[in-house]
Amino acid sequence: MNLAHWVRQRAHASPDAVAVRQGGTDLTYAALDRASAAFAVRLRDLGVAPGDRVALVAPNVLAFPVAYYAILRTGGVVVPMNPLLKAGEVAYTWQDSGARVAVVHAMFAGEAQAAAATTGTTVVVVGPDDLAAPDEVDADALEVAEREPEDTAVILYTSGTTGRPKGAELTFANLRSNTLVCVETLFRNGPDDVLFGGLPLFHSFGQTCALNTSVAGGSCLTLLPRFDPREALEVVARDRVTIFLGVPTMYMALLGVADRDAYDTSSVRLGVSGGSSLPVEVLHGVEEAFGMQVLEGYGLSETSPVASFNHPDRPSRAGSVGVPIRGVEMALARPPQEDEDDTHHDEVELLADDPDAIGEIVVRGENVMRGYRGDPAATAEAVRGGWFHTGDLARRDADGYFFIVDRVKDLIIRNGFNVYPREVEEVLYAHPAVAEAAVVGVPDPAHGEEVGALVQLKDGAQASEEELRDFVAQRIAAFKYPRVVRFGPVPKGPTGKILKREIHLER
Ligand code: AMP
Repeated sequence: MNLAHWVRQRAHASPDAVAVRQGGTDLTYAALDRASAAFAVRLRDLGVAPGDRVALVAPNVLAFPVAYYAILRTGGVVVPMNPLLKAGEVAYTWQDSGARVAVVHAMFAGEAQAAAATTGTTVVVVGPDDLAAPDEVDADALEVAEREPEDTAVILYTSGTTGRPKGAELTFANLRSNTLVCVETLFRNGPDDVLFGGLPLFHSFGQTCALNTSVAGGSCLTLLPRFDPREALEVVARDRVTIFLGVPTMYMALLGVADRDAYDTSSVRLGVSGGSSLPVEVLHGVEEAFGMQVLEGYGLSETSPVASFNHPDRPSRAGSVGVPIRGVEMALARPPQEDEDDTHHDEVELLADDPDAIGEIVVRGENVMRGYRGDPAATAEAVRGGWFHTGDLARRDADGYFFIVDRVKDLIIRNGFNVYPREVEEVLYAHPAVAEAAVVGVPDPAHGEEVGALVQLKDGAQASEEELRDFVAQRIAAFKYPRVVRFGPVPKGPTGKILKREIHLER
């Protein structure tokens, strides 16, 4: 069950194939196996035993996969972390996860040492090339520790919409199943594929769909430590990338590269999008500009992450997140009502098949986490009646395709009418001057909430507030168009997700 077996198997089957590439350096499968064995010995000598949590703080560099599989190899539980966290946040995560050892990339040693002063965690600092070249080491120096399907493999601290981050415990069974679905049914990647590694590997999307999927399929993962659209196009052309993975803001950035035609992207056969909704205009724009098929999927850290996908052998539907993947069920539950108190019933009221009904997506199956670490109350609130509650609103068409309407928490209620920001954003994206748009509620004494839009225009493009307001007003119902339009950069999290909670617009 241990995911580290994939590295060993590939090292035996195709030792000289390139497993990971970054900044002109290649690690073959044999080298990844040796390097992770060597580092696993070091961790074991520091006292890491099966079940111990080990934090991993690194950007997308070769040291990440080496350390990731080394920790798993010892039987340890990986706690991957965003390297941009400050000392206080780092200390919180180490305390909450009970991490005794942390592997930290040299660039981030300062915050880590400051955190360690309060937590007593042993910090192992690794330089950019430290882990990648252990020539003298025997890959058999440390056997892969045996782990059970229900043992925790990884703890992911999720952004969450409220409160402090919670640690979603994902088991070996969760991650194995989700990875193998990607390899076997969604991407169908093999030794001839090159996956683009621009999604942060500390996040569930990059970790399962880029790293584990690439290794399990024997493909090559080409890493980009900091996403930049021009560099991404260079990597695609240089390494003949076949599968591009990104969040919508990455695809928007690619479309924004003025001389994008100068890059040869003909090798890309599949573009995968997830993490937030891909505006239909952007999907079509990417398919046209780069000649790749783009398939959108949906999921959360708590679901390993993939729950649904536009499968390659079914007609893909623009604007839809597809159908549940193998081993996973998805349904719509009656959404939480405003006047309901916080007592949670164990019964889940599922909505009948009705293409117009909007409900909260609930998920059950092989991909659903064990729970939030050390937080049975939060776990019981999330997993009720056997279903994991996602907090996302959706509808489902007659063929079973799900369409995300919005987050429960992002819903705007104006004069008692529901306004789904995503619908308004879709219209804004259809305006030629708009690069990025985020629609949020603006407190309003007369209407409860008013619809507001924060818009970032494309370089050199011009549009006035009135023009954008009128553009939307002509296309959707009068209660939905934004009365407040402001211009400025749209705040984004480390994975490129738009941070609506940080947008505060005024009338
Ligand atoms: P995370 O746990 O950071 O992966 O965030 C999960 C959240 O991302 C979900 O609850 C959704 O709100 C959002 N999300 C993921 N994929 C999509 C998608 N394809 N369309 C819309 N929202 C998405």
